[in-house]
Amino acid sequence: MTNLSSSPQASSAAGATGSASDLPNFIPDERARRLVAALGGRSIVLVGMMGAGKTSVGKRLAARLGLDFVDADTEIETAHRMSVPEIFAKHGEPYFREGERKVVSRLLNEGPRVIATGGGAFMTEATRARIAEKGISVWLRADFDVLMRRVRKKSNRPLLQTADPEATLRHLIELRYPVYGLADHSVLSKDGPHEAVIEEILRILEVRFEPQAAPPPQVVKVGLGTRAYDIVIGPDLLKSAGERLAALAPKANCAIVTDENVARYHLAPLQASLDAAGIRSTAIVVPPGEASKCYAQFERVCDAIIEAKLERRDLIIALGGGVVGDLAGFAAASVRRGMSFVQIPTSLLAQVDSSVGGKTGINSPYGKNLIGAFHQPSLVLADQTCLGTLSEREFRAGYAEVAKYGLINDADFFYWLEANWREVFAGGAARQKAIATSCMAKAGVVERDEFETGERALLNLGHTFGHAFEKLTHYDSTKLVHGEGVAVGMACAFRFSVKRGLCSGQDAGRVEAHLRDVGLPTRIGEIRGDLSADTILEAMFQDKKVERGALTFILAQGIGQSFIAKNVSAEDVKAFLRDEMSAPV
Ligand code: NAD
Repeated sequence: MTNLSSSPQASSAAGATGSASDLPNFIPDERARRLVAALGGRSIVLVGMMGAGKTSVGKRLAARLGLDFVDADTEIETAHRMSVPEIFAKHGEPYFREGERKVVSRLLNEGPRVIATGGGAFMTEATRARIAEKGISVWLRADFDVLMRRVRKKSNRPLLQTADPEATLRHLIELRYPVYGLADHSVLSKDGPHEAVIEEILRILEVRFEPQAAPPPQVVKVGLGTRAYDIVIGPDLLKSAGERLAALAPKANCAIVTDENVARYHLAPLQASLDAAGIRSTAIVVPPGEASKCYAQFERVCDAIIEAKLERRDLIIALGGGVVGDLAGFAAASVRRGMSFVQIPTSLLAQVDSSVGGKTGINSPYGKNLIGAFHQPSLVLADQTCLGTLSEREFRAGYAEVAKYGLINDADFFYWLEANWREVFAGGAARQKAIATSCMAKAGVVERDEFETGERALLNLGHTFGHAFEKLTHYDSTKLVHGEGVAVGMACAFRFSVKRGLCSGQDAGRVEAHLRDVGLPTRIGEIRGDLSADTILEAMFQDKKVERGALTFILAQGIGQSFIAKNVSAEDVKAFLRDEMSAPV
């Protein structure tokens, strides 16, 4: 524990408890009354670093909603008649954290209210569990520069008393941001009026409590001759899956490959739908996460399919995210030299990208997706209802691939996303439009270049960088998930394009600003792990796009103007990476 984290709010918190009496008296309007009723006694818990604005935003948010505001650190200080640093000095951190857990639990029991927590509170698992049970957590996420500027203004911050405050803050960001990312929601805390942040929180709550109406299903066709198939996008498709599969492959039996997380929510409804249509099915459940794209799980899935006595004309169903889709698809491509398979993607990333186009495979210790096959599915069912159980972090990560389609060759789509991303996150018609537009873009590319001899490589925008980051973080999802790696990779691809005089700094800045707005990382410095210009470059040389030892990148002349750049010199990449690593986060 550094003294930085010991007392983030200690002295600024004085007077921070109560009904925001230093603010004008708001009369809660109809919107506020609706939201408070929907909270059903749960509190809104603000988490984040010192300087993120939890107290100032919290007070105003409470005033808007007509709720009490409480600063947990102030409560602890009042109870102990000591400041937080004094409690730390006298009793140590474990004692403080236990007291903090008790105080936060008590405050949650007395909800609904708006609670600001100390910077370290959410890092304690037991406190997080209580917040998840009785509250709705909102992470006020601020960039390094913003935090540094804000805490510098306050001379009483212990941060300023360390030998290297910038390094201390960077270290804390690296440690805490992945855990803050577990919060129910996150909002970017920028410089500017607090009202903008509060409005954002209110919109997020509205979306959470008042889900958007689901539009009817729509179909995107992938025209691949004898291997053509439909992508059906719409709500409640699991319910009709049995009927659709019976029509697709009469009398076929099925193996459902899924992971533990997805199985918890969606396996039983799918099995019920198959049962109702008279389809016999066997479930094969793998552990969640990228680590399951490995030889051992591949062997397990193949053996289980054979053991279930499935024949060549039977169906393998991939029910899950991209990991399950890639693994089950590769098993389908391999068992009995190729079985039919159906994708039921349940993550946003899988619905807009990995379930379409027939790339299947697993990872090797040498790199990502190095073992695999092209094997098209016979049907894709992108059930919007399944996205309801996906975490916000995973949804955000999938959004990086949505934005990718705009950046590759559809600037208008990117501009539409800039204006409508909140609605996309909200669900309903805007989300369905974003998914369908992405699937149409991917279907078009796949139809023109199924086996990636040319244009299809454009879909790898950000991936040469992203795959290297994933490898160097050992596919550890607490550090980085695929879509986050792609987001940093796309921002890098645009900045690299600027460095090479190909793209305007304005466009690169616009790309970065949008990714940051939705809560995605854009800088290498935000990734935890053993990353240096040398290790990243080395990992890049294992990429499938390396040709005769030369690196291929997807670079851009602007938004919507990406192109394949072959023979990029390793020295140029290294120089760029060195600059990136020394740039502020
Ligand atoms: P993932 O499959 O690991 O899913 C992310 C997490 O979300 C997992 O923990 C999963 O259990 C959980 N999850 C998925 N759906 C859920 C739901 N509805 N409710 C609750 N939890 C749910 O990862 P991903 O982001 O979907 O896909 C990434 C993978 O896709 C990578 O391996 C990447 O290489 C691959 N990919 C493949 C292609 C392709 O063309 N084949 C394209 C892009 C990415």
